[in-house]
Amino acid sequence: MEQPHKIPAKSVPPRDGTTHLGPRFWRKRGTLMSEDSGTAGATPVRARAILVIEDDPPIRRALEHALANVTERVIEAETGAAGIAVAAAERPELIVLDLGLPDMAGIDVCREIRSWAPTPIVVLSARHAEGEKVALLNAGADDYVTKPFSTVEFAARARAQLRRSLAGPGLNDPTVRVGD
Ligand code: CA
Repeated sequence: MEQPHKIPAKSVPPRDGTTHLGPRFWRKRGTLMSEDSGTAGATPVRARAILVIEDDPPIRRALEHALANVTERVIEAETGAAGIAVAAAERPELIVLDLGLPDMAGIDVCREIRSWAPTPIVVLSARHAEGEKVALLNAGADDYVTKPFSTVEFAARARAQLRRSLAGPGLNDPTVRVGD
């Protein structure tokens, strides 16, 4: 759970015309700011659920850590088949897909999910082949991260995908159907 930063009792906003509007908002030079917007400069996005399809427990833990402030919930699947089933059942807002899965090729998982869901897919791979990257993007992947990855960078990439998709026309679109 992401705890909102507490404004310490003594950290009164600066005296340059700033008006304190309560614990979470203050007005500075005409701009309403939330305390969350301080460092990033943009409203942080937060998903309801992100699905991680990865068979390697240490990598799953690293992803869970990286995504802790990006989503309410990280759902995990250890195989491609389980990942596809969970994607259909839980409708996550972002899918992180490892390419080295025990039961099926990551690119097939990507194609399958993309055939019925617009959910952003971030592919995770230990390999570096440019050809593979192109094939994955053609199969519907939205971003490509190579292991080992920086958790900070990974979180930023996940947020970027969420910002794009949550702001897009599909947000309140009830026509996305799964498995009907
Ligand atoms: Ca793997």
